[in-house]
Amino acid sequence: MAEISFWGGVGIIGSSKILIEQGSWRVLLDFGLDFSPGRGLFRMGVQARPEFALHDRLCIGQAPLLPHIYRPEALHGFPLPGGSDGRTALFVSHAHIDHIGLTGFVDPAIPIYCSPQTSRLMQALAEGGDVPEGYPPIFTVMEEGKPLSWGPFRVSCFPVDHDVVGASGYAVETEDGVVAFTGDIRLHGRHPQWSQTFAKTVNKSRALVIEGTTLSFGFAQAQRPESEVDALFAQALQQTPGLVLLSLYPRNLERVEAFLEIAREAGRIMVWPKTWSKFFRHWGFKDIRAFEEDVDVTTIKRNPAQFVLQMNPDALPWLLDLALGPGSVFLHANGEPLGAFDPRWDVLHDWLKFLHIPFWSIGTTGHASPEDLNRLVEWIQPEILFPLHSLEPDRLLPPPGTRRWLPQRGGKRYPLNGYS
Ligand SMILES: [Zn+2]
Repeated sequence: MAEISFWGGVGIIGSSKILIEQGSWRVLLDFGLDFSPGRGLFRMGVQARPEFALHDRLCIGQAPLLPHIYRPEALHGFPLPGGSDGRTALFVSHAHIDHIGLTGFVDPAIPIYCSPQTSRLMQALAEGGDVPEGYPPIFTVMEEGKPLSWGPFRVSCFPVDHDVVGASGYAVETEDGVVAFTGDIRLHGRHPQWSQTFAKTVNKSRALVIEGTTLSFGFAQAQRPESEVDALFAQALQQTPGLVLLSLYPRNLERVEAFLEIAREAGRIMVWPKTWSKFFRHWGFKDIRAFEEDVDVTTIKRNPAQFVLQMNPDALPWLLDLALGPGSVFLHANGEPLGAFDPRWDVLHDWLKFLHIPFWSIGTTGHASPEDLNRLVEWIQPEILFPLHSLEPDRLLPPPGTRRWLPQRGGKRYPLNGYS
């Protein structure tokens, strides 16, 4: 009999960790870190001690109490068996912290599988100095659509659309049927057909674990398509007489690429923080200009209409040197601070108000709207539905023929061979 249990993503957005067990074999899907700026015990400058980071997170419940997952040396005496027992493999859906953030503590004998693009992205990020907490994780690339055997399981990885390259969904074949996992998914991005094909491939699964991020925010329905984000960016470049300030998320490389092209066509040069520039160059983007290294403040001040400056979210005092005002604009395209839940959001708005800089939100979410989540569930028609990664998972109602279980966190194991 196969069983499934949930060690994160329950009652919160992110932190996904799904364990599927059969006999003594285990498949772990995602190993994320809770990313909640301004909340929890680690906030306002209080951080886990770098050397004891895993220990500290285990103590406060920010890492799951699972045996034979962690590097023994990272436990620092925490009473949990460390090291691999040779029976666990980890599969990560995409390179966002809330899905991959604990991989730096995984015992190196445990394989960490991911899509080719996820591995490439993690490598490029590391070149720019952006690495997960702990030790450098080793990723093993998995060919998309080609099943891989792990003990009694067969695991397949499929591309899905999300706001990061390499995002994947998984199908795990157990003796009680297929468990499908969407990872983070959407239908309004640049590749809706990937999400659609995944849904068709895992049609009639025994169980579906689906993210439910947007269920958390009232009754919002349609999401702005990615093509409209590009159009709004182009419009802003055209209509702004002065400097365009930007906040986007660097891992959304498809948007970075699109914005680079739009800026080029508008005759503007994009300027990036230094560490990002390293990351982008390693990814393969050409003509990347780093702030201060390639383009300095004086140059931007002299010709503000020739530039788009991606802000480093903590470098706001630089704005004092840039001669800004109502002729400039701050474009928010899902960068940091990510939203009103982040304490830095108010700080940013205070600065913009002080400098009389208009603010324009032009982004769109990486997560399917409630309507699209329903559509995905209807396409897949699973026997059992587990909504996860949401503040209000109970807003996802199952279609006829599907039974919904609202997962509980931790020790509760749900048998996949029957209803309990
Ligand atoms: Zn994500």
